[in-house]
Amino acid sequence: MNKQYRYRMMMSLLFCALGLVSSAFASEKALDASQIGAERIPLTGYFSVLQDDSASLSLADVQTPEIATRFAGGHPHTQPLAYGTTATPYWFRFRLQNPTDQALQRIIELDFPRISDVQLHIPLADGGYQSELTGAAKPFSTRPYANRNFVFPVTLPPHSEQTYYFRLQSNTDLLVPAQIWSTEAFQAHERKDYMTQAWYYGIATAMGLFNLLLFIALREKIYLIYVIFAATTVVTFAAFFGLAHEFLWPGAGIWAEKAMSITAVMQASIFAIFTRHMLSTPIRVPRLDRLLITVVGVMLLLLFGDLASLPGAFVLGQIFVLCVYLLIFGIAFYCVLKRQRSAYFFVIAFTFYLLGVITYTLTAMGILAHNGFTANAGQIGSGLEMLLLAFALADRFNMIRREKILAQEEALNSKQELLDSVRLSERQLEARVIQRTEELSAAMRKLKELSVTDGLTGIANRRQFDVVLGNEWKRAERTGTPLALALLDVDHFKKFNDRYGHLEGDECLKTVAQILTQNVSRPAELVARYGGEEFAFIVPNTNGHHAAQLAEKICAALCAHNIAHADSAVGYLTVSIGVASVIPRPDASPETLIKAADNALYRAKADGRNQVVLAGTAIA
Ligand code: GH3
Ligand code: MG
Ligand code: MG
Repeated sequence: MNKQYRYRMMMSLLFCALGLVSSAFASEKALDASQIGAERIPLTGYFSVLQDDSASLSLADVQTPEIATRFAGGHPHTQPLAYGTTATPYWFRFRLQNPTDQALQRIIELDFPRISDVQLHIPLADGGYQSELTGAAKPFSTRPYANRNFVFPVTLPPHSEQTYYFRLQSNTDLLVPAQIWSTEAFQAHERKDYMTQAWYYGIATAMGLFNLLLFIALREKIYLIYVIFAATTVVTFAAFFGLAHEFLWPGAGIWAEKAMSITAVMQASIFAIFTRHMLSTPIRVPRLDRLLITVVGVMLLLLFGDLASLPGAFVLGQIFVLCVYLLIFGIAFYCVLKRQRSAYFFVIAFTFYLLGVITYTLTAMGILAHNGFTANAGQIGSGLEMLLLAFALADRFNMIRREKILAQEEALNSKQELLDSVRLSERQLEARVIQRTEELSAAMRKLKELSVTDGLTGIANRRQFDVVLGNEWKRAERTGTPLALALLDVDHFKKFNDRYGHLEGDECLKTVAQILTQNVSRPAELVARYGGEEFAFIVPNTNGHHAAQLAEKICAALCAHNIAHADSAVGYLTVSIGVASVIPRPDASPETLIKAADNALYRAKADGRNQVVLAGTAIA
């Protein structure tokens, strides 16, 4: 190969390279900045992109012809460039032209506040570049324009066409929704944007404070959980939409890098806790509850992995955040199918949130048209979710109160029932006691009767005779009146028994008793079986003479019965009666009266039976 050939070869290669460079530049349409009106113009369609795998290229490097040709363009006009989770730096080259006579002020905006490292290299009139170095990982003071997004004011000289370079690198995910505004349009948009954000944070703060007051008043843990949930949601959104960097941690540093994952994981965890309380999952769906705890546990572990910058932990963590939300939605939906009332509001609230987040994501990806509603769908969904969840809490409170009232009524009813049954059994017991008492006193009466009457004849027995004689004795002693006593013995009764039989003898005794009862029947008087075939009668306030008359009457009455007694001297049954009467004195006793009557009876027997003998005056 000769020298000339080599030179021609080199020259052709150089021209070829230059041609490529120029063709590369030529394919890059410059954006006519004078055409920008009241609306934003997406910049991404004007971008040429270079992936810097070595992460070592400088602005000077990417301007060299070899590297400049490696930029690739032709991106859809309206869609942001999405690179997913990558730490690789990307270079973006674009050209702006100003065909007018006047310098133009324009605003370039990167509507994605989570890019760690953002560099915009702005061309200067002398051919050099002014580099703006900022990003989510750098202090907020590095921003050339204070805004939650990355905003760069640029000045385009008259009749100029300049090449700009963005270098973007993100430690989380990288989405590049770049656009250019006129200064006035951007400022109008900025006011509206901050107003919308303020609305959202205002509602969230109000809901949080309101439920904090409810927690203080009602002491119900779930309200506090709601408050923490509202707070983490607010911080997550603030981190996600760049406001946290502006207002909460303007110093940024490592915290700003990790804030997104921390807040997202905290929000998902607290939402899981809220769900468990709201839907009572440990009781209603214990298995799903355990699964939820496990998934949340793994998510938290992955967060620690992410904080320790373990490879893959961030992406896996984000997947698990998604899993937690899907699982919560699944559980809530299952509870709805099981007709659990508290799940209804929950699912509606959560659906609003999911729809909001999905709408926002699709808008950020450029799939849905960008407008005031779609761009803020996340905040709208989250706001509605918070409102509906607060409503669900109120409904839950109402339900618990209703259940409590019902339970109280039930308790009252059963108390009343208990009282009624106690009263009933008390009445039954009372009736039974009365019945038993009556039975008992009847038995007692019977027993008493039995103890004072003679079984064969039905008249008073010896015991009763003794009692009555004692009482009448005392009474007569008190009143100083005579008390008369007669003792009566059936004559030859042994013989009667022997001849006519014992049963016939019993009949005779009954007859004698009957005659006695018929003749001695005044209230104070008493007829008694004294023993065997002996009888007695007591007649108070009666002297011996009258008592003997009464005895005579009895003798006559028995004779009148004419009971045959073949072994008697007269041929029929007779009795002998001894009568005595006395006005009792303190030094005497009833026995003296008995003794006197007995003596009289003895005399009657001795004198031939079938007669009445009145005791002597010494006794009466
Ligand atoms: P006296 O005229 O001397 O009284 O002769 P008596 O046979 O009546 O006298 P005693 O005392 O020897 O006999 C009394 C009899 O009375 C003896 C007994 O068999 C009879 N007796 C006693 N109690 C009853 C009774 O409850 N029923 C019958 N059937 N006989 C009785
Ligand atoms: Mg006798
Ligand atoms: Mg006798």
